[in-house]
Amino acid sequence: MLKLYNTLSRTKEDFVPLVKKNVKMYTCGPTVYNYAHIGNLRTYVFMDILRRVLKYGKYNITGVLNITDVGHLVSDADDGEDKMAITARKQNKSPYEIAAYYTDVFLKDTAALNIGKPEILAYATEHIAEMIEYCKDLEEKGYAYETADGLYFDIQKFENYGKLSGIDLDEQQAGARVKVNDGKRHHADFAIWKKAEPNHIMQWDSPWGRGYPGWHIECSAMSRKYLGTTMDIHTGGVDHIPIHHENEIAQAEAREACKTVNYWLHGEFMLVDGGKMSKSLGNTYTVTNLIERGYSPLDFRYFCFSAHYRKRLNFTFEGLDAAKTAYGRLLVALAKHKAAAPTIVMIGSLPLVIDKVKKEKGINKKIKEYQKQFDEAIFDDLNIPLALGVLWTAVKEEPNYDIYKLALKFDKILGLNLNKLPKEPKQKKSSIPAKITTLAEKRKTAKANKDYALADTLRKEIESLGYTITDISGGGYELIKN
Ligand code: AMP
Ligand code: ZN
Repeated sequence: MLKLYNTLSRTKEDFVPLVKKNVKMYTCGPTVYNYAHIGNLRTYVFMDILRRVLKYGKYNITGVLNITDVGHLVSDADDGEDKMAITARKQNKSPYEIAAYYTDVFLKDTAALNIGKPEILAYATEHIAEMIEYCKDLEEKGYAYETADGLYFDIQKFENYGKLSGIDLDEQQAGARVKVNDGKRHHADFAIWKKAEPNHIMQWDSPWGRGYPGWHIECSAMSRKYLGTTMDIHTGGVDHIPIHHENEIAQAEAREACKTVNYWLHGEFMLVDGGKMSKSLGNTYTVTNLIERGYSPLDFRYFCFSAHYRKRLNFTFEGLDAAKTAYGRLLVALAKHKAAAPTIVMIGSLPLVIDKVKKEKGINKKIKEYQKQFDEAIFDDLNIPLALGVLWTAVKEEPNYDIYKLALKFDKILGLNLNKLPKEPKQKKSSIPAKITTLAEKRKTAKANKDYALADTLRKEIESLGYTITDISGGGYELIKN
């Protein structure tokens, strides 16, 4: 049974989707006015692991990731300049060009990290009509009011505001600075539609004049369109808990009059050198920056596995070096297991399997145990560090092709390209002497003639020459050098 930590209940819960074996899932995506940094990418690696674990558990997923190609404002409090406008002005390009460029880079970066693309990519600019519809509905239901600069959600009309983060708005309201404002009834009321200044960079017609949607409404309108009133899982980074996700809950539950998300999952933050990532500190590294410094995107993916997704992860270049080394060692160790593949030679229509290594006694049992431990780790709230540890224990076994096959199975979750091993040792050609294969063939004929005494003598002769012969299904046999 898959267990997931639900931010809403603050406990690990059994995961039970609304419809058996089908999962409806929404992930807050990027605002495409800049490159995604390694912190953002950690959160998408987490989304990817969740999707892989669900698929491994044989769930069908309808996953939505939004691409916010409408600029939203620098501050969560609906003020400041439009982020998309800032970049467009700096680069002297249209916001559409900016959005197209950064979306493309985002998709390439995530692909390089083996982050699977959700089934639906929802572009905000293509859903303005749905957002307006949503806002109209909220206004008609009495949850929104118009001011001079937009349409605002009235949080005091929504009883359960704050249940995700445990925020106490009354306390906050008392301490809030009184603004010259803007006509808001409560400081935490948020714009679901903003009226545009004539020169605002992106704007659309609406019942409230020309304007543009608030950021929070984008996610609610698009998830409603593709996933219906209630989805199973909503993911994002922890920074979204107190404002963005509280606001999503408020407007969605107000509109639908029911619970709209059953499981809220949040990825913890990535720090850099123990502190915040910020442009001014010059530490908002991108995938390209890492490649320029000699790391592969998958070195970074491996690095992400050094902490559980609900733990903070401190990025340092020493840490990334250690991940790169460990990942390299893992590939080399696996190449040895791969090289232990049996050679199959067809003799007539029958397969002759020649094992280059003698199988350790009890290895099959151990492999089953590794599989069990791995499954337990990933189904226990996606414990990837533990699952990776199981793989490491397995690769330390004597070379065995079945360990390589096991690693490939684990890689369905890990996504580390374990099927693309570097510097594979060349497979040696079968070196079973002709004398031995002739004796083996004679024994096969003897067995076919039911001359078991002769077959037995031939087997002993083969053994005296240093080989073991074992019959395999299909009438073939296996020869192993002792
Ligand atoms: P944004 O484009 O700022 O909305 O961020 C995209 C995703 O990255 C969101 O899910 C954020 O919660 C997440 N995120 C932002 N900064 C970090 C960070 N330092 N570590 C991990 N996730 C982050
Ligand atoms: Zn969102």
